[in-house]
Amino acid sequence: MKLLKTIANLGYGSRKEVAALFRAGRVTDPAGAVLYADDRVVHEDVCIDGAPLDPPQGLLLMLHKPVGYTCSARDRGQLVYALLPPRYARRSPMLSTVGRLDRDTSGLLLLTDDGGLLHRVISPKSRLPKVYEATLAQPLRGDEAELFASGGLVLESEKTPLLPAELEALSPTRVRLTLHEGRYHQVRRMFAAVGNHVEALHRSRIGGLALGTLAEGAWRVLAADDVETLF
Ligand code: URA
Repeated sequence: MKLLKTIANLGYGSRKEVAALFRAGRVTDPAGAVLYADDRVVHEDVCIDGAPLDPPQGLLLMLHKPVGYTCSARDRGQLVYALLPPRYARRSPMLSTVGRLDRDTSGLLLLTDDGGLLHRVISPKSRLPKVYEATLAQPLRGDEAELFASGGLVLESEKTPLLPAELEALSPTRVRLTLHEGRYHQVRRMFAAVGNHVEALHRSRIGGLALGTLAEGAWRVLAADDVETLF
């Protein structure tokens, strides 16, 4: 496929807009030599404004979602896609969020166009640990860690007990909770089940992948070795 078409398909712009990138000399090889619209060059050898071209498929992003952004168009608030360059909303196949975070939850959110990877992360069989830090309205009463670890807690309007989860008290009103599944509003509902209320919630880790020092609202493309860390 000609370079112009490849780049347009990745969402960098319409064909006309991509043609303008070529004319401006913004499409180069990694050494900085200008490329032309008719060139047939392997994907890895193309840069735009000095940054490597997005991969054609198998794109995986890590986003530090701030409070106030939503993962679903059905919810109130700005979509998380607004935090990413417009080309990510235009590319085909589309990027989907890997599971969801509530509008009022901050932290690690993955987005991918790789259906297989998405399934491996969110499938109930994967039991990939997800780590949350929560601030509670009331001090812990003392039996929560045992109850959450028991595998016997049934949430309101559900029939199947939750999988065992690990709770670590960081202070009387600050906790770290590790879940191995992802039910709707799970953390908030678990604390509601013990008469408490989650005031702030943040996800810091999925599997072996931590948010680290990524600033709120910032994102980065993950490499193959990050994917290995995940599982
Ligand atoms: N549990 C919740 O209650 N909310 C989230 O966003 C994630 C887990």
